[in-house]
Amino acid sequence: MELTIDGRNVPFRAGQTVLDVARENGIYIPTLCWHPRIGPSSRCRLCIVEIEGTRGLQTACSVLAGSGITVRTDTEIVKTARRMTVENLLYDGHHDCIACEANGRCELQDVAYRLGIREYPVVSEPAQLLDDSSAMIVMDPNKCIVCGRCIIACNEIVGNDVLTFSQRGYRTKIVCDTAVPMAESSCVQCGECLQLCPTGAITEKKSAGKGREWELEKVNSTCPYCGVGCQVILHVDRAANRIVRISGREVPPNDGMLCVKGRFAYEFTESPKRLTKPLIKKDGKHVEVSWDEALDYTARRFKEIKEKHGADAFGFIASSRSTNENAYATMKFSRAVIGTNNVDNCART
Ligand code: SF4
Ligand code: SF4
Ligand code: SF4
Repeated sequence: MELTIDGRNVPFRAGQTVLDVARENGIYIPTLCWHPRIGPSSRCRLCIVEIEGTRGLQTACSVLAGSGITVRTDTEIVKTARRMTVENLLYDGHHDCIACEANGRCELQDVAYRLGIREYPVVSEPAQLLDDSSAMIVMDPNKCIVCGRCIIACNEIVGNDVLTFSQRGYRTKIVCDTAVPMAESSCVQCGECLQLCPTGAITEKKSAGKGREWELEKVNSTCPYCGVGCQVILHVDRAANRIVRISGREVPPNDGMLCVKGRFAYEFTESPKRLTKPLIKKDGKHVEVSWDEALDYTARRFKEIKEKHGADAFGFIASSRSTNENAYATMKFSRAVIGTNNVDNCART
């Protein structure tokens, strides 16, 4: 099956939208409300295209590809309509990119750049107050483009039902519960709204001012907090050897979602209280020793205890934070080396 986009015949599969087909074939169609995990909502009206034989402009995110249809993504009408939409979004907000935390990863900034919008619009209304009441998240209504991604993220993806639209028209804004400050709402600070917000309207409080997007190295990793093994991206300031923020990788098992600990509790990596050397209790006090001494000591004590009390004097509990491989090694050590079946994993209960 094929359709024509900008004069090119391109293949498609059943169920694909015009936007899917264009993206798969490297044809640029801007979007702000669409996201692979959100799907089409046709709110931002940026993916508009001309489709031969239809009236007006159509949203490419919601029109299914069909054999033989002819789509044009780059006519003057399309480009002018997109530019007007983005200029209105910029005009309706307070977009001080230089100071904005989202500078460099903001999808509105990228779209404005791609559409060649050079003039900075005049600010229309006095700035609205930020909501920085919560521990981890800052909501800035001045940078909100009312795309609705955060609402779908909160209500449909993580099912927390906190966010909703309030008011109408250009006064529409995102609120928590019955328009209470985030700290007083039912928000659990999972940060899914933050992950999916395309602009600087929802940002992380702690990472503010600690590094620009392009300065931070992205390191794929696994969350250390539990056995689910959520995949994360560490945004690292190499020079300072410091994690500046964490986002969820959009791959299994978590598909971008994280809990409050996985997303925000990363300062432990810098704690001076972290154990970096083994300790042995000597005269009632823990004393730092070398790995050789610690391993020799442990092996000797294991041997002594087994000889004196038998293998069943031992019990092994693997941590739910350990990998499958480490849990397997614990089981093997317990049964094959020590000789006891007293082995379990704390994630089992
Ligand atoms: S939200 Fe985007 S466009 Fe607005 S100030 Fe921030 S970086 Fe600039
Ligand atoms: S942090 Fe989580 S619970 Fe709170 S508003 Fe965002 S998505 Fe909803
Ligand atoms: S807060 Fe962000 S995700 Fe939510 S509507 Fe505004 S711009 Fe969209």
